[in-house]
Amino acid sequence: MSTYSAPLKDMQFAIAEFAGLPGIAALPGCGEVNAELVEAVLTEAGKFAQGVLDPLNRSGDQRGAQWRDGVVTAPAGFRDAYEQFAAAGWNGLAASTDFGGQGLPHCIAMPLQEMWNSANMAFCLCPMLTTGVQEALTHHGSAALLQTYMPKLVSGEWTGTMNLTEPQAGSDLSAIRTHAVPEGDHYRIQGTKIFITWGEHDMAANIVHLVLARLPDAPEGVKGISMFVVPKFLVNADGSSGQRNDIRCVSIEHKLGIHGSPTCVLAYGDNGGAVGYLVGAPNRGLEYMFTMMNHARLGVGMEGVAIAERAYQHALEYARTRVQGRAIGQRSGDRVTIIHHPDVRRMLMTMRAQTEAMRALGYYAAGALDRSKRHPDAQERARQQARLDLLTPVVKGWSTELAVEIGSLGEQVQGGMGFDEETGAAQYLRDARITTIYEGTTGIQANDLIGRKVGAEKGATALALIADMRELDAGLAAAGERCAAMRAALAQAVDGLEAATRWLVDHYQQEPDVAAAVAVPYLKLFGTVAGGWMMARAALIARERLGASAADHEFLAAKMATARFYLEHLLPQAGALAQTVTGGAASTLALDPTAF
Ligand SMILES: Cc1cc2nc3c(=O)[nH]c(=O)nc-3n(C[C@H](O)[C@H](O)[C@H](O)COP(=O)(O)OP(=O)(O)OC[C@H]3O[C@@H](n4cnc5c(N)ncnc54)[C@H](O)[C@@H]3O)c2cc1C
Repeated sequence: MSTYSAPLKDMQFAIAEFAGLPGIAALPGCGEVNAELVEAVLTEAGKFAQGVLDPLNRSGDQRGAQWRDGVVTAPAGFRDAYEQFAAAGWNGLAASTDFGGQGLPHCIAMPLQEMWNSANMAFCLCPMLTTGVQEALTHHGSAALLQTYMPKLVSGEWTGTMNLTEPQAGSDLSAIRTHAVPEGDHYRIQGTKIFITWGEHDMAANIVHLVLARLPDAPEGVKGISMFVVPKFLVNADGSSGQRNDIRCVSIEHKLGIHGSPTCVLAYGDNGGAVGYLVGAPNRGLEYMFTMMNHARLGVGMEGVAIAERAYQHALEYARTRVQGRAIGQRSGDRVTIIHHPDVRRMLMTMRAQTEAMRALGYYAAGALDRSKRHPDAQERARQQARLDLLTPVVKGWSTELAVEIGSLGEQVQGGMGFDEETGAAQYLRDARITTIYEGTTGIQANDLIGRKVGAEKGATALALIADMRELDAGLAAAGERCAAMRAALAQAVDGLEAATRWLVDHYQQEPDVAAAVAVPYLKLFGTVAGGWMMARAALIARERLGASAADHEFLAAKMATARFYLEHLLPQAGALAQTVTGGAASTLALDPTAF
């Protein structure tokens, strides 16, 4: 079994260059942020990932969370790890200092999420959802709700969940049936929620459920959904946990991956109604949930990066030790480890280059998130918000789809041993598989991208980003012969993205079904080209630094190599995707549903 080791250098590089750390350090509230702080925090978090979370990953997968008579027990070691996690203050990293958080920018918090997810994704889902509940309450909760729940959510004493899904309401939340009836200062909630991650467990003293439900007089559809805080234990006046609320965990799912994370069916109100408290105004629950979901979608995108990195490290270790065959052209002499075979190196380069590109784009989005919240200029905040909104479905959809491919390549590198559960490689592929499904499937991300993000605003934000991508051309031209192939590949790919974007703008209003038929290829195109842009930028930075000093030579030379590989091997896929977007809709819809 390999041991996870945080890719600190690449993370620091991406935080500095793509999130734009120096600019973020100058924003209000970031006075203490600098490269030294980043290094110190990353190093400590990396030790926690390696020393505490990683050793529990496989045993958590094998044993899984257990359900018995409504009681859910986390896998052995998880509870202790969670206590350590909370005690170290990791839970409230980006939370407001008003509630005991550390107020760190997202461009630091997100890389930490990446590390912990690489080490143990099933475990990390619990704090990730807790952070999401903090986010939703901070924006929409009353002073009383904030005072009651925030300090303990930030400290990690209590954990949080997100309750949207019902048997008949998955992607389509307008079908939610759970209802809430007013009763004095609270509501009585009744209904069934399914697939609730960490909906019941024994790691924390209380669980704060954010539940979507309908009021008696609510309008039909998504405009009639409200949000409620429903705690597992009611909270006493002194803030301690009191009587058990009317919520029962009926069962947990038996699923393909993330076995350490209990996915719960929760019955609300079997005995008269669970006590819940309205968050914000009635009928605005879905809008509020999106505050949390957008954040969580970026987080799930980072899960994709995390699993891809872990799968790469695991495959690399195997490739360095597995001896098979001789080097190409050699008929005698020593047999070699498989990393000497060009095709194995191709697979490892693919895994590595894609992971670096996804990391760069994810951190770039985290930088936009920080600027959208903290920049002193309102116009710049709005510009960054628009960019973040555009990139959120791309980071979520593209990074998770690639994580599945990378998990699969990791198995391929390990041959039959990859397919065998004994080596642990299969777990990464199994765990990666959920990331394209929850927090909105790739199809739903792509609909969001072509609809609210590109179609509705006639491509304005996308075309502005594309214009930024084109600005790199001058730098690549100045870099001369060594970057000539990269320059040509990027220019061609950006042309394809622009043509596809304009095609979507032209077709979205008049022929929405035609546009939707190529939404996922467009999302993949966007990610592939934005990834190429990031890698070309990385190459130019690495080249300049290599020329200026001998420091970090190995890292920078490798960065040049992975960037070149990305632009020469992976970016050309953009041409095919662009062609699919602009010419492939009709054949997608050629068969009527009845003809399948
Ligand atoms: C392990 C796990 C953990 C989860 N955790 C949580 C949680 O904590 N809280 C919570 O509330 N939910 C959770 N979920 C639920 C998850 O968010 C849903 O499974 C997901 O949103 C998809 O809904 P669905 O399963 O009903 O699929 P469906 O909505 O039935 O979708 C099936 C297929 O149809 C496609 N499709 C549906 N509608 C459209 C459309 N309009 N356009 C294009 N394609 C469409 C989808 O892309 C998908 O391919 C979890 C699920 C799992 C499996």
